[in-house]
Amino acid sequence: MFCKIASGEVPAKKVYDDGKIIAFLDINPAGTLKGHTLVMPKEHRTGIEDCEADLLAAVMRAIKKIVPAVREVSGAEGINVLRNEGKAAGELVPHLHFHVIPRGGGDGIHFEENRRSAAEEELSKTAEEIKAKLKG
Ligand code: 5GP
Repeated sequence: MFCKIASGEVPAKKVYDDGKIIAFLDINPAGTLKGHTLVMPKEHRTGIEDCEADLLAAVMRAIKKIVPAVREVSGAEGINVLRNEGKAAGELVPHLHFHVIPRGGGDGIHFEENRRSAAEEELSKTAEEIKAKLKG
């Protein structure tokens, strides 16, 4: 689906295109402010894990330009940059993309819900497990 937006077959409100990376308005914006934008590589990648670091860096360079533009146009007090990696994380479209979501008081979005307190022991063990994976 997003490959067709990248190729121009499916229309979208495009706001950025540098040849490699495009950004366009989300058709169902979150919250109440205008400017919810999706940023992605034109070439298909399923997610962060199958995207090479250089291409991911190019997406982040585009996000760096898009964030202040969205903030100014929307008048947002803050911005969420969000990636839903996999269906279980809420991903609907399996083409690597990041959300740039303008945020302001009373916009009804609550990403910070469902936090729990974790025991120090759990945090230490989990940190060691992840560090071991990163070394491997
Ligand atoms: P995901 O849940 O995969 O992270 O986000 C997919 C996003 O794409 C959703 O926020 C949804 O509103 C948006 N979306 C789905 N189909 C289209 C489309 O055809 N055009 C545009 N502009 N946005 C879309």
